[in-house]
Amino acid sequence: MDLAGEAFWVTGASRGIGKAIAEELVRCGARVVLSARSAETLEHLADALGAAAMAVPCDVSDPQQVERAYRQMETAGWQPTGLVNNAGIGNFQPFTELPLEAVQAMVAVNLLGAMYCTAAVLPSMLERKQGTIVNILSVAAVTPFRHATVYGATKAGLQMFADALRAEVRSEGIRVINVLPGATATDIWSPEVLERYQAQMMSPESVASAVVALLQLPADSHPEMLILRPGQGDL
Ligand code: NAP
Repeated sequence: MDLAGEAFWVTGASRGIGKAIAEELVRCGARVVLSARSAETLEHLADALGAAAMAVPCDVSDPQQVERAYRQMETAGWQPTGLVNNAGIGNFQPFTELPLEAVQAMVAVNLLGAMYCTAAVLPSMLERKQGTIVNILSVAAVTPFRHATVYGATKAGLQMFADALRAEVRSEGIRVINVLPGATATDIWSPEVLERYQAQMMSPESVASAVVALLQLPADSHPEMLILRPGQGDL
């Protein structure tokens, strides 16, 4: 599918995998709406990407901010034809040491946030009978890892949400694509983990190129899930 003329809303676009996806989308001719909480960083990135990018800061865990952000895009004539639910946080500790606030935050951002954004874009996609929703999940959605109890649960929960949603909307021309990356060198990891394991991780650019390659498949093919692990497998 030719991405020229498409506009993708990328959440969590201020750094890491989301930033790399936004940059790759623009390189392939699409326009991007960049969201994250860090307004200033987003503005810098939008400036660097030029006329193909617009910054719309928003905290995806707040349904009112999500709704407001979507209205802002519509009003500016940047109604997205695609959504990349990428915003996510990880707190990797034994379950008994995980503060309740961290549990709630992961559910609020990784699971509910993606649902709020999906709910915002779907009505107009259904009206146009066209649209793409990409969910950046994790191999932790399908593989149990120590210290990833809640993180894995949010990703597995979003995977089932997305699979069930696909069953609802595929006949209406909507593609729902789940991407499950393994370890990728971004700030989601602590500096200590990065220092020790970065060489065994994928780059965010590698994940981004895989995501955008899926989006460019012919419109009559519907990729549903991609599991992408580093060459040496899980850490
Ligand atoms: P990252 O570098 O920490 O980036 C996370 C992004 O999410 C940032 O842009 C951050 O921006 C944004 N974000 C966090 N909370 C937000 C909120 N409440 N509202 C809006 N934006 C929010 O991490 P990353 O590795 O690129 O993660 C991107 C996605 O990939 C996540 O869903 C993660 O679970 C998934 N993933 C990562 C790996 C990995 O190994 N890195 C592997 C599998 C899956 P602000 O702080 O400015 O809001």
